[in-house]
Amino acid sequence: MKKITILGSTGSIGCSALDVIGKNPERFQVVALAAGKNIALLKKQIEKFKPKVVAVSAKESALQLRDSLTTKDKVKIFYDQEGLKEIASLPSADVVISAISGSAGLIPTLAAIEAGKDIALANKETMVMAGEIVTGRAIKKSVKIIPVDSEHSAIFQCLEGQTSKNLRRIILTASGGPFLDFTGNELKKVSLSQTLRHPNWKMGKKVTIDSASMMNKGLEVIEAKWFFNVDFSHIDVLIHPQSIVHSMVEFVDGAFLAQMGIPDMKLPIAYALTYPERIINDLPSLNLVKTGNLEFRNPDIKKFPCLGLAYAAGICGGTAPVVLNAADEIAVAAFMEKKIRFIDLPKIIETVLDLHHSINTPSLEDILQADLWARRETSKIIERIM
Ligand code: MG
Repeated sequence: MKKITILGSTGSIGCSALDVIGKNPERFQVVALAAGKNIALLKKQIEKFKPKVVAVSAKESALQLRDSLTTKDKVKIFYDQEGLKEIASLPSADVVISAISGSAGLIPTLAAIEAGKDIALANKETMVMAGEIVTGRAIKKSVKIIPVDSEHSAIFQCLEGQTSKNLRRIILTASGGPFLDFTGNELKKVSLSQTLRHPNWKMGKKVTIDSASMMNKGLEVIEAKWFFNVDFSHIDVLIHPQSIVHSMVEFVDGAFLAQMGIPDMKLPIAYALTYPERIINDLPSLNLVKTGNLEFRNPDIKKFPCLGLAYAAGICGGTAPVVLNAADEIAVAAFMEKKIRFIDLPKIIETVLDLHHSINTPSLEDILQADLWARRETSKIIERIM
């Protein structure tokens, strides 16, 4: 029986993870859940999965939850950043699913690593912001970090049983999002609701917008660098609108391995929890005849500059990826509030990156400072253009 803690249980990944867990009660037991403000959903999850401990983002939410639970739901409630760290390092857990959205996932994931928990990592910001520290601490603590992001799960599966010297390059696939065939002029006018309509994947809002701008792929390139310890010159991106090939690797002899499947996050989530085993599920089988042609093209970095910005920040290293990520979080939030246009996203992020003096091999404190700085700078720039 694997004992599991989920950080971000009411988000898209958290809900899919609970679905997988709920269908395999002989394998998994939920010991703790952490959520933000969605108390109504968290309450349902507590009633169904009976965790011993939960955490919410703020004291008001903790009080609201306490009031809504009946006495038979015996659960300890923590709140704020400290509560989150408490949950992440709980002695009774074997695996922590790190699925909080955004940079807020970094500190609790590090706490879980320090406590010796294996990590199923969905929070890509953990690697983007602090890849060197995170991978270093995981080695020190003999902690396994298994990717949940579908592309990284695909590569992880392709590399099983291989040595790194056999690897020539990693090829991350990208759907291209809803605006793949839009012209530059059409991109100027896209609305928020159009941006939130991803053609293949059901995901949270932030990652859906990042998919449309291709920043998501950019963040994944940096994530891949740290997960698989490869240079950026050996990580390529291919547009693959069908989202059937979840990513590929090429070996030194020219052989390719690709991992394919239907686009459903429950697959990589389950694999991260059962690796190296696989379990049966009730998902439909991939029908390649019905799928039809599988297409591949090069990404258009002129039309989607976020991908180029991410490569540049990744190659620069230091705190540049931290700034890239923070600027994107603030800019996407402004786009969601309809303060800026879709095409303003890369311009704003580039301006903030240009203003930043990157610190090499940053400490955690340097990283958190760079994150704060970038948030402030981005907000200032947005105020100015509004
Ligand atoms: Mg992904």
